[in-house]
Amino acid sequence: MEEQSWFQLIPQTQMIEWRRHFHKYPELSFKEFKTSAHIIEILKSFGPIEITQPTPTSVLGTIVGDYPGPKILLRADIDGLPVTEETNLEFSSENKGVMQACGHDTHTAILLASIKVLMNLRSQLHGSVQVIFQPGEEQVPGGAQEIVASGQLHDLGAVIGLHIMNGLKSGSVNVVVDGPATTGADAFELTIQGRGSHGSMPQEGIDPITVGTEIINQLHTVTSRFTPPKDLNVVTVGEFHSGVAVNVLPDTAFIGGSVRTINEATRQAIAARVKKIIKNTCDTYGATYDLNYQFAYAAVVNDPKLSQLVKNSALKVLPKEMVPNGTMMSASEDFSAYGKVAPLCFFLLGGGNAEEGYPYSNHSPKFIIDEKALINGVKTEVASVLEFLKG
Ligand SMILES: [Zn+2]
Ligand SMILES: [Zn+2]
Repeated sequence: MEEQSWFQLIPQTQMIEWRRHFHKYPELSFKEFKTSAHIIEILKSFGPIEITQPTPTSVLGTIVGDYPGPKILLRADIDGLPVTEETNLEFSSENKGVMQACGHDTHTAILLASIKVLMNLRSQLHGSVQVIFQPGEEQVPGGAQEIVASGQLHDLGAVIGLHIMNGLKSGSVNVVVDGPATTGADAFELTIQGRGSHGSMPQEGIDPITVGTEIINQLHTVTSRFTPPKDLNVVTVGEFHSGVAVNVLPDTAFIGGSVRTINEATRQAIAARVKKIIKNTCDTYGATYDLNYQFAYAAVVNDPKLSQLVKNSALKVLPKEMVPNGTMMSASEDFSAYGKVAPLCFFLLGGGNAEEGYPYSNHSPKFIIDEKALINGVKTEVASVLEFLKG
């Protein structure tokens, strides 16, 4: 680690003020109108940044360095969650039932601070820097794919994103240098249409509960019998509803499930297997069905070269013990959508762990992070951009 002259350009006090403002006024996915307006206001105060809105509540900012060169994109997600805050922080949510419970307020503030620093370093940049403040990360199919579909992201050499995560040492920068940084998450909803009848005359009906239990039992063989053990795959049935009375054979049953994968080929193979089990079992019993299989977020797969650059950049500006080996996050992220436009690096910023006094995980109504962690996110983002655009 080396002290960099640009450390003094980091607007530390302002960054915390911004973060607390976004925390106090959270907005739900795709409804981030005030949030995006406030981001634009802050960006404008930095000077000549080109600003566009690829989607109604997103903000894309561009700064051009003094020399020609490649283009790099930094991303922050900005949305809150439908959670009622129970932190008792003085800047607790004023929007009842909505909370920045995943820390996206910190991502927004970190990115604003990074772009402010980079504005002042334009004379050193060989290329340009874009920042995307992205809506709707928490709601499938996610805001990232809309931004990619807008066509406004092009000629990018790299996309970097971070996520604050409790349970990890405050301020630590955790980079997976090769391979999946998150799992992918897909979901399915199945309605089995049987034929209701009297409970004493099952032969007159088609029992959707029996069909459903057969399907569930077979679904539990998908990962154990049909996917390579080295992959991390999960098929979980989280919902099974049917019936209203002990003596009535119901008409329908509902099954809802979640699928986690880290490999695209296996992801497709699991979907095909799930569909086959459902079709064949329903056919056997004479039931019909309606299946909604939703491909939601693919796994975020880090590019080895870019991720090594980010890790090395972090080591340049942070003490070695603050840059441990990154491990995959089991949660999922729509950041993977940017993989369509450039190589990716997604890393985790420690928000503090239980020993440090931050015991509540992301999405908890009591989720609190250590604000002292934020500056390490800025240092890593700025150092990575400087390295990528050093010419
Ligand atoms: Zn979240
Ligand atoms: Zn999140």
